Amino acid sequence: MLKLQNISKQYNDKFVLENINLEIETGEIVSLLGPSGSGKTTLLNIILGLTSVEQGKIIFNETDLSNVRMKERGFNIVFQDYALFPHLDAYENIVYGLRNKKGVVTDEELQEYIDFLELKPHLNKKTAELSGGQKQRVALARTLVMKPKILLLDEPLSALDGVIKESIKQRIKSIARQFKLTTIIVTHDPEEALTMSDKILIINKGSVSQFGSPKEIINQPANDFVKEFILKQLEIKRENIYNLFGEKYA
Ligand code: ADP
Repeated sequence: MLKLQNISKQYNDKFVLENINLEIETGEIVSLLGPSGSGKTTLLNIILGLTSVEQGKIIFNETDLSNVRMKERGFNIVFQDYALFPHLDAYENIVYGLRNKKGVVTDEELQEYIDFLELKPHLNKKTAELSGGQKQRVALARTLVMKPKILLLDEPLSALDGVIKESIKQRIKSIARQFKLTTIIVTHDPEEALTMSDKILIINKGSVSQFGSPKEIINQPANDFVKEFILKQLEIKRENIYNLFGEKYA
């Protein structure tokens, strides 16, 4: 339902993305994975509509969005630093985007998102009083209430660690499943991509190195870059793959 066709992007006569093709089905979680500077954020911003695309097409449910403005695309993003308003409390942050969009969500739906993200006890807290995980949940709620057609997440786990990181990871997965919401995640961390995604697009220097499920990527890395980046960085040994997927691999 989301198709990227031959997307290329240049800055100062240099290609930062070259001939990117990608198809994402409704409700899938897809990670854009690659080292720093590989072009992940540029691709995310092109999908969002923040960055223009001069070459290639973005097709969503058969409609060409390549020249459609960000607001009209109806995709929403959670930024890496959450970008919450410090002078507002959690509830005010969550409903902020709705002030000019009455009727986008019903009161029941709003409550459902708040309950789903377990934010009820924190609604009156100012941004500075929220923990990292709570801030991320407020940022997710604020985006979900806009009923995005696609949810975009920029390095959603980078500011979190340990148990909180694991719990936000699970929550992002259950959001995609429960609301059948297509979710695109930018990450530089192979382990995050492998454990969160249905499919992973591995980008190296602006080009696609491999697109496939975590299992395919681990079992059949397409080239030396993928082997090096995924397997070496992760230091995957056969027994660790068992831990990632709960299955044995031959
Ligand atoms: P990543 O998200 O994988 O770290 P980016 O998409 O941010 O990579 O950047 C890819 C390349 O494009 C980098 O070399 C970066 O310097 C360059 N780039 C990104 N945005 C701009 C811009 N607005 N102007 C010029 N170069 C840019």
